[in-house]
Amino acid sequence: MPYCPKCRDEFQDRVKVCPDCNVALVEKLPPLPKKRKKKDEPLVHIATAPNEAVANMWADILKEHGIRCLLKGGELRAAMYSLTYNQQYEIHVLDSQAKKAAQILAPFLEQ
Ligand SMILES: [Zn+2]
Repeated sequence: MPYCPKCRDEFQDRVKVCPDCNVALVEKLPPLPKKRKKKDEPLVHIATAPNEAVANMWADILKEHGIRCLLKGGELRAAMYSLTYNQQYEIHVLDSQAKKAAQILAPFLEQ
């Protein structure tokens, strides 16, 4: 049985062209493209804040621009120093938003 490769309809043998799609029929349908599992997007380190307050401020700014970010504070440092307010925080964002996020934070990073 011929099939239309476009709409995947099945036709009588005498039919050569799909009347709906105007496409030549094929003997066998190609396998359906597998739904690609959405890969977890990698996180990119775009900036390092000198402390938690700054990190949170930057996170808020990014949030206002619709960018979700992840703050990574060095747990080792936190264990070593009780003065956690001095702890540096790394700002991580999704790879696809890294460029935009870096642009938004650029004026703050220059300070
Ligand atoms: Zn068709």
